[in-house]
Amino acid sequence: MTQPDARGTAIASVRAYSLHVPLRKTLADALYVRTHWNIPVVEITTADGIVGTGYSGVWAGEDLIVSTIRDHLTESLIGRDSTRISRIWDDIYWSPLHWVGRAGVAHMALGMVDTALWDIAAQRAGLPLWKLLGGRHDTLETYNTDGGWLNFSIDELLEDMGGMVDAGWARVKMKIGGPDPDVDLDRVRRVRDALPSGVTMMVDANQNWDFITARRYAPRLADLGIAWLEEPLHPDDVTGHARLARLGAIPIALGENVYAEEGFTSFFEAAAVDFVQVDVTRVAGITEWLRIAASAQSRSLTVAPHAGDMMQVHQHLVAGVGSAKTPMIEYLPWGLEVFESPVAMTGSSIRLPDAPGASTAISSEARRRWEAK
Ligand code: MG
Repeated sequence: MTQPDARGTAIASVRAYSLHVPLRKTLADALYVRTHWNIPVVEITTADGIVGTGYSGVWAGEDLIVSTIRDHLTESLIGRDSTRISRIWDDIYWSPLHWVGRAGVAHMALGMVDTALWDIAAQRAGLPLWKLLGGRHDTLETYNTDGGWLNFSIDELLEDMGGMVDAGWARVKMKIGGPDPDVDLDRVRRVRDALPSGVTMMVDANQNWDFITARRYAPRLADLGIAWLEEPLHPDDVTGHARLARLGAIPIALGENVYAEEGFTSFFEAAAVDFVQVDVTRVAGITEWLRIAASAQSRSLTVAPHAGDMMQVHQHLVAGVGSAKTPMIEYLPWGLEVFESPVAMTGSSIRLPDAPGASTAISSEARRRWEAK
C-alpha cells in the first residue's frame, strides 16, 4: 500500500449507510415480488472538503455491502490520494477480500468506492463526469423498462405498456418468464397488437427459462418482431447463450447479472451476447465498466446498460463513451427522489447534466426519511 497522502486530495473520512426506499407499487418479475428498493451508499470526503458519493441498488444484502465498506475498506482508505483511482481499485481488488468475492458483495463494495472516487475527480475537474470521460454524445435515448410486470393482469399490462408509448417512448420492454411460456407469448402478442407498429418491443425472461424453452420460443418472439430476448437462461451459462445465439432467431441481451470483466469476456469470446447490459452498480464501479464497454465496442456490440443506478451514473457513462451508433440506456426511475439532482427527462430523452460530478449525491431529506438504522 502507498503511504498516506497529506495533500488536499487525501481521503479524510468514509461514511457508509443504506436507504430503504418504498416503490410506488408492488412489482413482480420471473424471480421476485418487490415493495422496496435498497440503496447502499458510501460518501468519501477529501482533506480539502470534496464529498464523493458511490452507491449500488439491491433487493437484499445492502447491510452486507455497507459492513464490508465499514469493516474492511474504510481504514485502508483513510489518507490515500483520492486521485489514484486505478491504484486504489487494484489494492482493494487484490486485498484478502479477493478470496471471498471477486463478484457480489465485496466486488460491489469496491465498485461503490470507485464510483465515489470518480465523482470526486469530476468535481475536482469542474466537469460533469460525461465530459471528463470525453463527451462523445450530446443526447441520450432511453428505452422504458418501468412496466410490463408479470403480476399485472392483461388489462393492466395493456394500459401500462400503452401508457409508456403515450408518455413518449418508442422503445418499451415487458416481462416474460412466467410459469407457462404460452401465456407469456400470448401476453406479448396482445401487447404487440395493441401498440403502434413503429414502437420497438423487447422482452425479459429474468433467467427463468431452460435451453429447450428458449430454443422453442425464441423464433416465435422473433415472428412478433421482438427486438431482443433478455436473460433467457442462467446468467453464468455462457454455453447455453452461445448455442441460442448461434440459432440466430433473435438478438440476445444480458449482463445485468454478470459481475466482473472476466465474465463479460467469456460471453464476448463465445459470441453469446448482442446487447451488453453491463451495470456500474454490479461490476466494480466506473473503472471496470469502462473496460467492459471498450471491450464490447471493439467487437461491434451495443452497450445498453441495465440501470441499477436509476440512470444517474449511466447517463454520464453512455454520453461519455457509449456506443457510437446507438447511445441508449434503460429507463428505470425507482427512488429517483433520493438524489440531489435526479436525471432530467424530456419525453424519452435524457437532458445531460452540467453540474460537476457524477450526479450521485444523496439528498439530506432522503437520508432523514429512509436511512436504515
Ligand atoms: Mg432485465
